[in-house]
Amino acid sequence: MPSEYVSGWPISRFGCTLSFMKRGNLLTGLILFGLIAGIGVGELLYHLEVEDATLAFFKAAGDLVLIRPLMLLIIPLILVSVIVGVTSLGDPSKLGLIGGSTILYYMVTMLLAVILGTTLVTIFQPGVGLPPEVVETLRAEGEQQLEQHAEIRDRMEEAEDMGLGGVWVNILEQLIPTNIVHEMSATRPLGVIVFALLFGLALAATGEKAQPVIRFFDGAFAGIMTLVLWIIWLTPIGVFLLVAWTVGTIGLVELVGPLSKYMILVIVGLFIHGAIVLPAILYLLTRKNPYRFMWQMRKALMTAFGTDSSSATLPVTIQSAEMEGGCSKRSANFVLPLGATINMDGTALYEAVAVVFLFQLFGIDLTFVELIIVVVTATLAAVGAAGIPSAGLVTMVIVVTAVNTSLAARPDSPYLPMAAVGIILGVDRILDMCRTTVNVWGDAAGAKIMTRLAPDVEEDLEKALG
Ligand code: ASP
Repeated sequence: MPSEYVSGWPISRFGCTLSFMKRGNLLTGLILFGLIAGIGVGELLYHLEVEDATLAFFKAAGDLVLIRPLMLLIIPLILVSVIVGVTSLGDPSKLGLIGGSTILYYMVTMLLAVILGTTLVTIFQPGVGLPPEVVETLRAEGEQQLEQHAEIRDRMEEAEDMGLGGVWVNILEQLIPTNIVHEMSATRPLGVIVFALLFGLALAATGEKAQPVIRFFDGAFAGIMTLVLWIIWLTPIGVFLLVAWTVGTIGLVELVGPLSKYMILVIVGLFIHGAIVLPAILYLLTRKNPYRFMWQMRKALMTAFGTDSSSATLPVTIQSAEMEGGCSKRSANFVLPLGATINMDGTALYEAVAVVFLFQLFGIDLTFVELIIVVVTATLAAVGAAGIPSAGLVTMVIVVTAVNTSLAARPDSPYLPMAAVGIILGVDRILDMCRTTVNVWGDAAGAKIMTRLAPDVEEDLEKALG
């Protein structure tokens, strides 16, 4: 690799490393300021009971300033980054090993997250012991919430109709697309990833004649990353606006309300998974300081927290992982786009806690077998959830349906009405911010781990894969 490159990045493009780091720190400070100011202003708006239109302004402005520019990059970025990752690896057998290890890592970590969530919610029982009148009020408010959020209700009904089987058929259809342009225009990343994988492999196998195309994609990738570096400067403002909207709508006061035990349990579970379980895995498999890597990924993690979307965060995740986190292009370009689409540790954990909590609230005790159903379906539902706000809430109805089906065999056939999900809808955005952060952190940890299998330096790659 030419000496002016560090992890595949031309230094000249960004000025000297020192000034880059200074700018990085400035940006971190600004994003942090945006987050804190967003929480402060949001809480103020909540207490001032400002009109819905004022809050809607914050959301619309946040979407315009940050979400839309990031979303604009996602599809071209996925296409180009996966092609670059695969062509630099070359050999299909190497890709098979890395791909297999990546999927295994995703599945194991999601299962660990879900088991942790199920264990916590079963031990601490946040839905048991609330006075009946509080439960009644919650139910009534839940129904109201569902009425108010027609779009989410429609998505939930759709997911309910589809069931787990339908969701998987849908995933398989996305994996075998028929029209790549359609997949791109519908922002369906899985089909684009599959196409990019195959095309990348084919380019690598074609040899000399395909070299200009490979170099073209290399250049296109560097160009998109420069674009990301520009857009990233919008993050502080975007994060401020979106967080102010969330806190202004929900209010931190909810953290001491009747749902407090549930909310705190989700946050504690996410904290244990993100700050203990994933770092332990990262350390065991890389022998590198996981917290240092977490710090290097701070911009992506804060963006995930602010935007509530692992897909929208993807450009920042790739940028941070490769430029600051020491992840190889060969690993990150492939692991991160796939991870943003299917690897959701935070969502899996949250779905398990939320479902068991709701059953507890409705006085339905789940047996061990039913808890296993929760573990399995919550993991699969998390894979099916898209990297967008509230996706986990929507696919949760699949878990509820699966448990309801099993409960039907009991003599009294108890069941949880779908409207119950409305109870947690009102406070979901705050939890969504936290679980999205863990989702992105899980993806980043995966990219770091796979960097050992797919380093960018040719000799190291030979050593790693033989
Ligand atoms: N918002 C989450 C994400 O983008 C998905 C979810 O709703 O759990 O990763």
